[in-house]
Amino acid sequence: MGNAILYIEDNPDNMMLVKRALEARGYVLLEAFNGIAGVELAEREDVDLILLDINLPDIDGYEVARRVRASKKYALAYTPIIAITANALKGDAEKALSAGCDVYMSKPINIRELWARVEAFVPAPEGRDN
Ligand code: MN
Repeated sequence: MGNAILYIEDNPDNMMLVKRALEARGYVLLEAFNGIAGVELAEREDVDLILLDINLPDIDGYEVARRVRASKKYALAYTPIIAITANALKGDAEKALSAGCDVYMSKPINIRELWARVEAFVPAPEGRDN
């Protein structure tokens, strides 16, 4: 198993935060700043996990998840998807799960929660206990 994580996120501050956090653990981060680019990157590259913002400028994260799951690229049927959204409203988690996401996280992003959720699917290349 590899260590490539695709993050689909339009907010550059969140992108930088997550990039630093995951690279510190030895992961490689692939960046997409809108939904269409994210789906294309998922189909083109070998991706071990997808972090998916729900509020995106083109298609929303739910639609991204549906397209990823419906892809002709077989691996994308089971690649883990962690949904991330600013709206902690009831129903969001259910919507994300029914669109094909495996897990749901709320913003603001907590780095320790992020590490734990990512490591549950993809072991950290430079994992530590801190
Ligand atoms: Mn966003």
